[in-house]
Amino acid sequence: MKGLMDGKKIVVMGVANRQSIAWAIAKSLYFAGAELAFTYQNDAVEQTVYQMVDHEMPNSFCIRCDVTKDQDITNAFSDINKRWSQIDGVIHSIAYAKTENLPFSYLDTTRAQFALTHDIGTYSLVATAKEVKQYMLDGGTIVTLTHMGSERVLPHYHVMGVAKAGLESSIRYLANELGPANIRVNAISAGPIRTSVTEGVRDFDYMLSVVEERAPLRRGIDAEEVGDTALFLCSHMGRGITGEVVHVDGGYNIIGM
Ligand code: NAD
Repeated sequence: MKGLMDGKKIVVMGVANRQSIAWAIAKSLYFAGAELAFTYQNDAVEQTVYQMVDHEMPNSFCIRCDVTKDQDITNAFSDINKRWSQIDGVIHSIAYAKTENLPFSYLDTTRAQFALTHDIGTYSLVATAKEVKQYMLDGGTIVTLTHMGSERVLPHYHVMGVAKAGLESSIRYLANELGPANIRVNAISAGPIRTSVTEGVRDFDYMLSVVEERAPLRRGIDAEEVGDTALFLCSHMGRGITGEVVHVDGGYNIIGM
């Protein structure tokens, strides 16, 4: 897909390490010609992200942004705008990662856990879209990551699934409000992929094996497949698509039993 993204300037939010889905998306975009800026959460991931970017995607740059802080989001996009006159796209690949701290039962979710999961995983997309809009002078594209736990009950996913439902609804409202500015907003609903966000998910191995057994393609998916779908959505080829949730899950979501 060389050349598909030539000259396009894309902000990738949510790389923590090489397993991050955001990293696979960045690779698809980079090798298609995009220029990239990365935002990362905190000190814990800073060195890893800088090393990965320096080694594999020279000419890209990194900026810290904790999405629970409005000022961080404002500063990050303002800093990016000092280097780029406009922004063409944002990859939002962020979720609350400490799922092992979540209770066994959804009924036992505390107010604080509910709020934090929604703040990081859902509201951050709205805050990002509000901020980046002013820099998307020539239209643009926003892609976020969701999971089927928004549509169906999955073991132990509960509050994450509820937050993802809010995220998917948000892309529709954002798509409608930003469409007149030719800014498209879509989500990719990815099948299970082993990353740091899944480390604390109980029964994750079981989830993987069920998908491999029952999905129409009879296999799981990898982050590169998500990366290529994000590339399609960000590129001119996806120009007619907005407010959509695209499943990249080997077809698992269509199966009834
Ligand atoms: P990951 O841990 O690599 O990515 C999650 C990212 O969120 C990390 O980079 C982390 O630093 C960032 N983050 C968390 N809190 C933040 C904050 N306050 N400020 C800024 N960044 C913050 O795991 P991943 O699997 O690549 O997850 C990326 C996205 O994909 C998430 O939205 C996740 O829900 C979604 N997703 C993952 C899977 C899967 O099976 N791995 C499936 C479907 C959807």
